[in-house]
Amino acid sequence: MVITDKCIKCGKCVENCPVAAISLCKGDKQAHIDKSICIECGYCKSICPVNAIEDK
Ligand code: SF4
Ligand code: SF4
Repeated sequence: MVITDKCIKCGKCVENCPVAAISLCKGDKQAHIDKSICIECGYCKSICPVNAIEDK
C-alpha cells in the first residue's frame, strides 16, 4: 500500500490500521505507511475518504 499526495490528512487510516503501520506527524504533507509493519490487509484503502491509498 502507498499513500499518494491526494491525502488530506484526515487521520482515519492512522486510527484504524490494525497493526498501527500508518503515521501522520505534525508538519507532514501526508500520512505514511511503514512497509515493514503493514500486512497489506487493504483496510486503509477501503476507508480513505479521498481514495488516496493505492495498491503498489
Ligand atoms: S493495508 Fe492494512 S496493515 Fe497496511 S497500512 Fe493499510 S490498514 Fe494498515
Ligand atoms: S484516510 Fe486517506 S486522507 Fe485520511 S489520512 Fe489516511 S490517506 Fe490521508
